[in-house]
Amino acid sequence: MIPAVMPTYSRVDIVFERGEGAHIWDTDGRRFLDFTAGIAVNALGHAHPYLVQKLTEQAGKLWHTSNLFRVAGQEQLAGRLTELTFADTMFFTNSGVEAWECAVKTVRKYHHDTGHPEKTRFIVVGGAFHGRSTTAIAAARSEKMTGGFGPLLDAFDQVPFENLNELRAAITPQTAGIIVEPILGEGGIRVASPDYLRALRQAADEFGLLLVFDEIQTGVGRTGKLFAHEWADVAPDVMCIAKGIGGGFPVGACLVSEKAAAGMVPGTHGSTFGGNPLAMAVANAVLDVVTAPGFLEKVAETGTRLEAALAALVARHPAVLADVRGKGLMLGLKCVKPNGDVVTALRRNGLLVVPAADNVIRILPPLTIGEPEIAEAVAIIDKTCQEL
Ligand code: PLP
Repeated sequence: MIPAVMPTYSRVDIVFERGEGAHIWDTDGRRFLDFTAGIAVNALGHAHPYLVQKLTEQAGKLWHTSNLFRVAGQEQLAGRLTELTFADTMFFTNSGVEAWECAVKTVRKYHHDTGHPEKTRFIVVGGAFHGRSTTAIAAARSEKMTGGFGPLLDAFDQVPFENLNELRAAITPQTAGIIVEPILGEGGIRVASPDYLRALRQAADEFGLLLVFDEIQTGVGRTGKLFAHEWADVAPDVMCIAKGIGGGFPVGACLVSEKAAAGMVPGTHGSTFGGNPLAMAVANAVLDVVTAPGFLEKVAETGTRLEAALAALVARHPAVLADVRGKGLMLGLKCVKPNGDVVTALRRNGLLVVPAADNVIRILPPLTIGEPEIAEAVAIIDKTCQEL
């Protein structure tokens, strides 16, 4: 009999009932160190007191009004994010893929309205992941995601990651934009070099394309900068965010420069729930914490320490681990043993991590971790590698 919850995930047979900081407890009272952070979502850990306070304050006042009216929290968050980024305007969503869909529509509408209706195609990179809508799976093109869902939208030209020559060769008069994650997340924590990101900007400018960064996983402090592209000192025209900005509440946004947003006039896009007062209360609170003086610097430092500790484990256990890579607190351990076996063994020993492509396990802890959590994780990984 089919489960009542549609079985599109192979779920681990654990139910969690409470969390605090970087720890989470299941219904049997077992405690785990959560270095999945809900797949880079719980940026401030579980039950962060300030987020709980802001959410409950808002819950007692007003939950939802729809986008038929102005929403104060949206205007506040948008104003702050425009101050902090390249963007001049933004659209709020409930998830990453919705933010990404908005990006695709925005780029196409820009070209349509500026006299280039032929520009409808996008260059994306191999190993990219942008979500599970019918358009997003057409971009990623992995057989696992697309099998049985054809015909797919024919609008994406895929080129190898970090290969500029192939990217430039793929640009045609129909190309509208380039969409790239500054670090491939699901693709196995592969970090785009600053030179590559800058070269994408150059190519976009040269050929009249719009550059889109998908920072759904890399954004909101995860790499030690507010957004990962800041490491390369390069700005996109459009950026998708989600995950961390809600700290666990479903929120996303598509941030856009004034030029690129030219076509997005009333009626061109919408969402019933996007940017509702509850979501905005939490997202504004997340931004308060992440932009507090010293927060991002501490994330970068903690990331450097964790990466060094993981590198030492790689050196100690070459039969299990091959390599560590990433930026800030978005780290990947490339495994020698099958990554699924490593993830399962770590979980048995009390550490939760996320598998990714390229036989990698993703280490995505809350941004608030410190020495005790690093020490606990290192001890568990060390013990697990000895057992494997
Ligand atoms: N883009 C990237 C880079 C992601 O990592 C994800 C989710 O993992 C998505 C898009 C899709 O986000 P969502 O699952 O919220 O739709």
